[in-house]
Amino acid sequence: MSVNRLSGLLTRRFDKLLIANRGEIACRIIRTARALGIRTVAVYSDADASAQHVLQADEAIRLGPAPARDSYLRADLIIAAAKATGAGAIHPGYGFLSENEGFAAECLANDIVFVGPPIEAIRAMGSKSEAKKLMEGSGVPLVPGYHGDAQDIETLTAAASTIGYPVLIKASAGGGGKGMRIVSDAAGLVEAVAGAKREAKASFGDDHVLIEKYLTRPRHIEVQVFGDSQGNVVSLFERECTLQRRHQKVIEEAPSAKLTRDQRDSIQAAARAAARSIGYVGAGTVEFIAEGDAFYFIEMNTRLQVEHPVTEAITGQDLVEWQLKVAFGEALPLAQELITATGHAFEVRIYAEDPDRGFLPSIGRIHHWRQPDTTAGVRVDTGFVEGDTITPNYDPMLAKLVVWGPDRLAALDRMADALTRFEIGGVTTNIAFLSRLIAHPLVRRGDMDTGLIERDLTTLVSGSADLTPPDLAAAVAACLVREDASRNKGLSPWDRAGAWMLAGQRRRAFSFRTGSATVGASLVYAGQSKGLMIEINGIAQPFRYFASEAGLDVFLDGRKSRVSAVWDKRELGLTTANGTFKLHWIDPYVIEGTDSLGADRFTAPMPGAVTRILIEPGSPVSKGDAVLVIEAMKMEHTLRAPVTGKLVSLACSVGSFVDEGIVLGVFEAIVDAS
Ligand code: ADP
Repeated sequence: MSVNRLSGLLTRRFDKLLIANRGEIACRIIRTARALGIRTVAVYSDADASAQHVLQADEAIRLGPAPARDSYLRADLIIAAAKATGAGAIHPGYGFLSENEGFAAECLANDIVFVGPPIEAIRAMGSKSEAKKLMEGSGVPLVPGYHGDAQDIETLTAAASTIGYPVLIKASAGGGGKGMRIVSDAAGLVEAVAGAKREAKASFGDDHVLIEKYLTRPRHIEVQVFGDSQGNVVSLFERECTLQRRHQKVIEEAPSAKLTRDQRDSIQAAARAAARSIGYVGAGTVEFIAEGDAFYFIEMNTRLQVEHPVTEAITGQDLVEWQLKVAFGEALPLAQELITATGHAFEVRIYAEDPDRGFLPSIGRIHHWRQPDTTAGVRVDTGFVEGDTITPNYDPMLAKLVVWGPDRLAALDRMADALTRFEIGGVTTNIAFLSRLIAHPLVRRGDMDTGLIERDLTTLVSGSADLTPPDLAAAVAACLVREDASRNKGLSPWDRAGAWMLAGQRRRAFSFRTGSATVGASLVYAGQSKGLMIEINGIAQPFRYFASEAGLDVFLDGRKSRVSAVWDKRELGLTTANGTFKLHWIDPYVIEGTDSLGADRFTAPMPGAVTRILIEPGSPVSKGDAVLVIEAMKMEHTLRAPVTGKLVSLACSVGSFVDEGIVLGVFEAIVDAS
């Protein structure tokens, strides 16, 4: 057993690993640890008491209440948990304590292996300004800019005009896009510096800023590097993470869509030089922005990245296995010349968020979860299963969907298909947005820059496809499957009273509201020989559907298509080859009184707190009057009177926390006697 203490690094073999993280990354680390015969310890907050990472680990220890500062950020409790369970090492995952030099030092002081780089490396790269000074010395290209110590406004103003506008102000200690300001001319500098400093101080406790030339159409390219405690450093190709929203990655791919062979060689050489210059050990990512043929270092992340699976997909290597072997003190599994790449991989980040409402996080219980088959080049990394609840405490990423294909377009096609097979009900997701994004012509051509999403946001968010007959047929099939599931077995689509018998045919009408339009189709039973037909705009075509564990197949006029249908009450999220649609099924047999705009009552549109009551019970109301205000997820929702008449009662008071769908107000309409 070798013990290697190298500039703040302890490596040693261990047989039990504590994972100081949650969600998909904790589950993913457990998987590899188990394959290597290492026992695992999970830690959890009260919000995660029965989360997947807790269930999958061999042991688990409660840390504390839900907020991260009381649980996943409590270095002291995590070290105590490692000691209590005899874990010889801690893997920090990403986020939380993964780049916290103090935590790495605590591990070392307690003789626990920290699965990450030496403390000095975390420190060196923890400040973007310090990192740039180091890189300058190693000949790694930098974005033109200022990263000096002096922070007075005269120095910063002079630096910005030397660099030339537009410039980007960044928090030196920054991350996650916080503390960044784009400044287009000298007039805006003073205010932007003050704003960036305020945000940096609040988020990182350090208001040091740097200034960079703002590149207007850059790409984001990063290199996966790995070092071991014997001094070897290798790179495992690049990833392109150009598809971003607000400087946050949305879709990643490997290799880059556009690099030439020479560019690939030189960017990897620069990344290895960066890693070597700080004696790097473990997994790290050197990030660059590229414009034209030039690329510039922006920062190094001293941890495993969210998007590491695309590198795994093209190299066939398990990067967590590499991390654990390096933490044992072993040499890297492969020498540089033996690391090869095949094909192309994409990763999309599936979030519980609502693109239609400015990407607001969506919370709630996942009542339906179906993921694509994970054979044939498809991988799903997640920490959730059906029945789990998304709380507002943590990042709302639900899953990472990763695909591999022999070339870039094949991989994109596979992603398009896999996305239609991912169904999540109960929370709103960005799946439809991702589907539109990967179908974007510039994305397919690989002709991207970091501003693409922002520029085309309107079409990416709402979509522009019209419902075609196959989409309507799919909607009808979804209604029938839903009824089959909720009714007693043995009944046919015709059993509801009044549904049929019209001139010898059986006919049933289906109507849907989409936006402000109403669309419809009729299901027609055309007798023994012809079977079921769907009639749209007077044209009837043969129709069949087949629902199985794998999904819903709809046949219209003999042509089969696979569709995905997710119900949330009467709202149908329908994804077909033509796009994704939100439909409201208008059922003639159900009084639509449970909707928030029902005839004589309203219900809470989402869980939230009642912040204001504007009309007291017993008072007269006019249709459309604001009655009460609910605040949910930092947004205010006003509930209005559905009728003119009287507000009879309210089932809440200011400060009440209300669940979605609860009836909050009952009204009495004035019947016009004239
Ligand atoms: P953070 O650590 O907050 O994530 P980064 O420095 O890694 O910040 O930058 C995040 C993203 O911001 C980059 O991927 C890129 O899209 C954009 N960005 C960073 N620097 C520049 C620049 N000089 N010009 C244009 N865009 C930039």
